[in-house]
Amino acid sequence: MEIKSVGVVGAGTMGNGIAQIFALGGFDVIMRDIKQQFVDRGMKTVQKNLERMATRGKISPEDKDAALGRITTTTKIDPLADRDLVVEAIIEDVDAKRELIQVLDAVCHDDAILATNTSSISITKIAAASKHPQRVCGMHFFNPVPVMQLVEIIRALQTADEVCTAIEDATRAIGKTPHQIKDSYGFVVNRVLVPMINEAINCLYEGLTAPEEIDAVMRLGANHPMGPLSLADLIGLDIVLDIMETLYQGFDDPKYRPSPLLKQMVDAGYLGRKTGRGFFKYSNG
Ligand code: NAD
Repeated sequence: MEIKSVGVVGAGTMGNGIAQIFALGGFDVIMRDIKQQFVDRGMKTVQKNLERMATRGKISPEDKDAALGRITTTTKIDPLADRDLVVEAIIEDVDAKRELIQVLDAVCHDDAILATNTSSISITKIAAASKHPQRVCGMHFFNPVPVMQLVEIIRALQTADEVCTAIEDATRAIGKTPHQIKDSYGFVVNRVLVPMINEAINCLYEGLTAPEEIDAVMRLGANHPMGPLSLADLIGLDIVLDIMETLYQGFDDPKYRPSPLLKQMVDAGYLGRKTGRGFFKYSNG
């Protein structure tokens, strides 16, 4: 199983980063979203990122142009028919992801690998929606995708060995580091990290101190490069809540109960950087 062409479904925070790194790694990429404006926004982000890399001398202007030339965009599903690998990065909703897998089943060739970038949903459950569940695998990138080194390769109960191997090879080919993990709610990074963020939100909810202070003490006391509330704003508070809900329901354990303040923030539409306001305010969205 050799991967040469890649489809990315979802052109949001994660999808456009995934499209960018595969294109930079020499893969032919099609990026798909449901509306032209979302595709255009994703492509604009890729362009801006690559231009910044070229200006800083991290890539040559020729590499930038070549990478941009390797990405085509679409709002249709049919162009994904010839892809060797399709990575989905749509909303964190199990029904939406299972439905998409069925749509991809109908469109893609039988040998295509279908990878999901879900943060926490059971890969086994997503794979079960496919007619060929052995070809479904988790490929969990981290935000911001062009910067973060790790990719968790999540093996569902049904995933075939050669699928994991092909995904690991593709991960190395784009300069990232794969680590293979068995499927479980939240995998490893989010199972450890997101409850820590949730607890920081509870500290704020209980009025222990101000958001800036919570971030400062965690930077200074735990040596974290970024405070947990800034990190929540970067990830997106809706995503943080989705992950907590998945852990809470999946393990049926009250230690994963989402903070009431986190729920309120999401209800208010304060989702972090992407809406210009989360625990902190952002002037550029
Ligand atoms: P996002 O909201 O920024 O982007 C999602 C995009 O998917 C939107 O542009 C939306 O229009 C599009 N979309 C929805 N349904 C679609 C469909 N059927 N076909 C095509 N496009 C569709 O979300 P995001 O932050 O990029 O997260 C995407 C996925 O990646 C989620 O599963 C999330 O849990 C996971 N993830 C997120 C992070 C993070 O830090 N944001 C990190 C790792 C994994």
